[in-house]
Amino acid sequence: MSLVLLTKYFHLRHLSNSSHAEIILLMNRCYNFSAGPANLPLEVLEQAQADLVDYQETGMSVMEMSHRGKTYMAIHQKAEKDLRLLMDISENYKVLFLQGGASTQFAAVPMNLFSSNRSADYVKTGAWSKKAIAEAKRYGTVRVIASSEDKNFNYIPSISADQYSANADYLHITSNNTIYGTCFANLPTGEVTLVCDMSSDILSKSYDVNKFGLIYAGSQKNIGPSGLTIVIVREDLLGRAMDITPTMLDYQTHANSGSMFNTPPCFSIYMAGLVFERMLSNGGIKSMEARNKEKAQLLYDFLDQSNLFSATVEGSSRSIMNIPFVTGRQDLDEQFISEAELNNLKTLKGHRSVGGMRASIYNAFPKKGVETLIDFMSEFENSNV
Ligand SMILES: *Cc1c(COP(=O)(O)O)cnc(C)c1O
Repeated sequence: MSLVLLTKYFHLRHLSNSSHAEIILLMNRCYNFSAGPANLPLEVLEQAQADLVDYQETGMSVMEMSHRGKTYMAIHQKAEKDLRLLMDISENYKVLFLQGGASTQFAAVPMNLFSSNRSADYVKTGAWSKKAIAEAKRYGTVRVIASSEDKNFNYIPSISADQYSANADYLHITSNNTIYGTCFANLPTGEVTLVCDMSSDILSKSYDVNKFGLIYAGSQKNIGPSGLTIVIVREDLLGRAMDITPTMLDYQTHANSGSMFNTPPCFSIYMAGLVFERMLSNGGIKSMEARNKEKAQLLYDFLDQSNLFSATVEGSSRSIMNIPFVTGRQDLDEQFISEAELNNLKTLKGHRSVGGMRASIYNAFPKKGVETLIDFMSEFENSNV
């Protein structure tokens, strides 16, 4: 072992109170707090590694085989079936495996859902919803019915049904705001076609899909590698896309072809399938939700009693996926981030619009990693206040 590795070993041993075997694993795999692309379950990576050059004795990798062949078709269909099971998606919803990221959906949603009114209500809760609003404005009328921009998006504004525009084709929300660490505790209610950007909290807790007209999510936060975008859309919303809608952005195109109109992102779908399978065998969304809440609570409890660190979001607006926090001093924040890095706690730098730190603790992030972060924060606090 080199001196650097040896130092790292004792650092980790001291810090995380882990066994020798756990430390050896950590020497290769850091605790990665990245907001996205984010960490994946180690078992899934190892399975992909085992399958990589020869998938189930086909003599080729999933990346190299025809997307119309039997082997890939089985992967594709099982991924959809497992996602339907996980989220309890009803028959009258289509599940689409698309490309272009959530950002492409910012345009696809209005193009597909603007009916004769060409009008929609949006809730502005951060940078992603701002982008969604700007894009929708290119195709029709957008009314922002609530916003939290006055406080740099550190809360979720309250919304009531009497704010909805009478002629809106849909109401758009961002369920979890990745950059600011806020999340809707309750969904908007009332007679409305609810459209949700669920990119950073899909599969983290149970959502009743029947309450939505459409859900979309990029895969790289809670599902798998980037390259796959999931759209879950109620069937009655199909077939009314604006004339100018490109064939590839029309949901009907992909609904008609089982997301096989053109070459799908095969490898990302295969990886997502492994994640779905693993979640199902670990108790599904209910168990995942319990683990996620436990992890987030540990960190919020620590932050709330700390004399140095504080969370930037209060109470019921708090996300269980992304937790921003600050010391209140920029130099200390920077020192913390670089010392954390040396302790294998990586990608903790906050988004430039919030500053400080952000711990993204998605589904695949282990509880042990949160505990290790808290131990490190406590040590840092003791030597810096
Ligand atoms: C990451 C993110 C996006 C952007 O996703 P892309 O797939 O990169 O386009 C949009 N919305 C939310 C809530 C996100 O977290």
